Amino acid sequence: MDDDQRQIETRAIHAGQQPDPETGAVMTPIYASSTYAQDAPGDDRGYEYSRTGNPTRAALEANLADLEGGAHGRVFSTGMGAINTVLNLCESGDHVVASNDVYGGTHRLFTQVYDQYDVSFDFVDMTDLDEVSEAVHSETRVVWVETPTNPLLRVIDTAAVAEIAHAHDALCAVDNTFATPCLQRPLEDGADIVCHSLTKYMGGHSDVVGGALVTDDAELDERLGFYQNSVGATPDPFGCFLVLRGVKTLPVRMERHCENARALATWLADRSEVQRVYYPGLDSHPTHETAAEQMDDYGGMLSFELDATLEQTSAVVSNTDVFTLAESLGGVESLIEQPAAMTHQSIPREERIAAGLTDGLIRVSAGIEHVDDLRADLERAFDTVLG
Ligand SMILES: *Cc1c(COP(=O)(O)O)cnc(C)c1O
Repeated sequence: MDDDQRQIETRAIHAGQQPDPETGAVMTPIYASSTYAQDAPGDDRGYEYSRTGNPTRAALEANLADLEGGAHGRVFSTGMGAINTVLNLCESGDHVVASNDVYGGTHRLFTQVYDQYDVSFDFVDMTDLDEVSEAVHSETRVVWVETPTNPLLRVIDTAAVAEIAHAHDALCAVDNTFATPCLQRPLEDGADIVCHSLTKYMGGHSDVVGGALVTDDAELDERLGFYQNSVGATPDPFGCFLVLRGVKTLPVRMERHCENARALATWLADRSEVQRVYYPGLDSHPTHETAAEQMDDYGGMLSFELDATLEQTSAVVSNTDVFTLAESLGGVESLIEQPAAMTHQSIPREERIAAGLTDGLIRVSAGIEHVDDLRADLERAFDTVLG
């Protein structure tokens, strides 16, 4: 059978990896070597120096490229390292359009680093395609999409945004961290670059930080590779090994993440303490239809709004036992957090509330524990604080 007809469960385990030809080791070894012997000057075996290339890293790059359906993968020491590399494509005077609720670190990189280099930014509500059309113009170099958004899980129509970008000769880059290639493949929808924080679902065990870029365009990949090597935000082989190990179970984990998130969302929607639930899998979600079309399932992230004050909400998230109170997401363990006091605290209160991030909002990364224990844990925390 042709390799690319294989299903993602199979490719997650095998793509880019063969048993080691020397020893038969089934798992790709951790090549902890900074440099590589040459037979004569310039006559190497594909590797010269580990910032430029490393065999453990190459296996991970090939694996991720395959999962996203692109020909070329590049991995980085962090998700921000990957995002920065896309921005390296911009020159002074260029313009970038981004979704208005991008990851906080992305917003900071754009507005506090690239702003200084005379790259300008417009942040728009990308669920409104007219806003995207109005913002993109001839100086626009990159259209940056993050979908589903954080923390309200709004799903952006990648194919429609990519078309607008291409009509102006801009690149469309999609941060696919929340959905993973198990649930949506932006390159198939017309995006030019897919970006990941490997720290989240791809690694999946809250034990490694990393980033990735995948593209199907050889010329674009060469430019990204130039910046990857020049800037040097490259990962160590142990980090690559951990992500390779994590990705093997990604499809299995995503099934449970989605199942648990859906069960929690449905249960929360019926609770008297809860005013509103944000989960793209619920009919009530404003972008449910786009999600149903673009995604194979609705993901492991959900948010909900308690009928409670900032202090009461802080008490609820501090009173869970199974859920860990922490930022980040995508690990096997369930996490809970309060955007108004944690991830989105830096947004001024009025602006934050206008954007729907109320004092009672709680974000959950549903882990893969038994859902009965997750429900019981939330119920106990609600009763303790609000009962
Ligand atoms: C975490 C995250 C990033 C940044 O990745 P790091 O690995 O923390 O550098 C970027 N985008 C999204 C959507 C994220 O969740």
